[in-house]
Amino acid sequence: MEQNKTRQEVIDRSPQNSDKGREDMYLRSLRLMAEKNSEDGRYHLTGLYNLKTFFYVSGELMQQNPDSRFGVIVMDIAQFKAVNEFCGRDEGDRMLKYIADCFRFYENSRPYTCACQVRADNFCLCTAFEEERELEEIAVTIKHKIDNFPFAYRVFPSFGICASQDVLPSISYLKDCATMAMQSIKGKFYAEYAVFDDKMRKQMLLEKQVENDIVDALKNGDLTAYIQPKVNMRTGRIIGGEALVRWNHPEKGIISPGVFVPVLEKNGFIINVDQYIWEIVFRFLAKLKGEARPLVPISINVSRVHAYDKNLCDTLIRLSEKYGIPESCTPLELTESAFLADEAGMYQRMKLLRDRGFRISMDDFGTGYSTMYMLKSQTMDEIKMDRTFILDLENEKSRIVLKYTTAMLLAMGANIIMEGVETEEQKRLVLECGCENAQGFLFYKPMPIEEFDELLRKQEREQ
Ligand code: C2E
Ligand code: MG
Ligand code: MG
Repeated sequence: MEQNKTRQEVIDRSPQNSDKGREDMYLRSLRLMAEKNSEDGRYHLTGLYNLKTFFYVSGELMQQNPDSRFGVIVMDIAQFKAVNEFCGRDEGDRMLKYIADCFRFYENSRPYTCACQVRADNFCLCTAFEEERELEEIAVTIKHKIDNFPFAYRVFPSFGICASQDVLPSISYLKDCATMAMQSIKGKFYAEYAVFDDKMRKQMLLEKQVENDIVDALKNGDLTAYIQPKVNMRTGRIIGGEALVRWNHPEKGIISPGVFVPVLEKNGFIINVDQYIWEIVFRFLAKLKGEARPLVPISINVSRVHAYDKNLCDTLIRLSEKYGIPESCTPLELTESAFLADEAGMYQRMKLLRDRGFRISMDDFGTGYSTMYMLKSQTMDEIKMDRTFILDLENEKSRIVLKYTTAMLLAMGANIIMEGVETEEQKRLVLECGCENAQGFLFYKPMPIEEFDELLRKQEREQ
């Protein structure tokens, strides 16, 4: 077994043929150095380098060969957990050792190449290349080997490739890029591999910038909450509002949440941003209360990431107590798809909050799937129909979908809000379906809190 071999034996397996002799000597010294520099340096089960040693060895290979171009291939197995669960750990281990051998083959047969096991089912290869096609061929060959091996459970490997454009790229950057490419085909079992391209490069730059700047943005107060009023279309009255985050970037101006919220959802920082926005909303409601004015419900967005946040309920309860605001005044908007994967206990958390008096609103209804099951099994206080329901209403099919979906929701006793009403025609058709409440540019765009406050005062005076 690999782990029973001495390090020297593992190293000695490098091909010793004459034209590769010099390189082997060189690789051997690098590996020895690498091993000296890390406590163990290898993944125990398979004997491949661990990530730390891989970074070190690959970095050195690049340094010593500044004229070569290097590429990184990463591979992840979808559903590897299932192999252990259904076939037992031994079969899981057998699979990992086989895959490790597929990678090791290139470490041993290609010049300036180094393989690594990042995690159980996540592998990586760094290699010098002349044509990008070589990298693609490696990925396809490994995939076919895995596909054709008689495992007890069929697995789906996906590959990401990044071919360096620069002289002396950073190995961690190459790996990040290859990983991003791989993630772009996650779940698409028919795709063999993805190559990091310019579009991904732009997205990566944006993500890095958002990650770099967000902490300062929170500290400097560059993030703020806008409120978009919700109205009753028959009476024109404001029945509430939704708080929407805005980022006033010192160089880029206003950045839309559509751009930065998904990035912050990836790294989890959305939790801090959400809490920051919630606090602004509670403070505003406390101000209304302090001025003895009527409270209108202001919805707050709860990112799907909070499904994993054990403190979610405590945070919301603490805020409502701190500011003395009834829970019903801050409905919680959760995007429809957050209800789908209940692994992390989103249902349970929502139930707990509902029992406390918070109202739960399903956002973006109609953009996800499995919604019929959800509608039957979950109690929602409000359903926000996505604006896609009222696009292309000149098409008869669109009108049928709108009419019967609204009818079904109303028959279930749901409170509906139509999102994104922009035209008089849309308003008329939505009203015709029996849905009175809406949020949309036809009535109001999201606005600074002070402006919303002013609108409320006007409405209070007219009462
Ligand atoms: P959402 O929660 O569905 O918010 C409604 C979005 O629709 C807002 O975009 C709003 O400006 C836009 N909208 C409203 N009326 C119309 C209309 O008539 N036409 C069109 N075309 N758009 C309309 P916004 O503010 O850019 O926010 C986009 C999304 O970002 C939100 O969708 C929500 O998912 C997320 N988001 C915004 N603020 C927060 C936040 O504080 N926390 C979290 N977690 N997500 C947020
Ligand atoms: Mg929302
Ligand atoms: Mg929405």
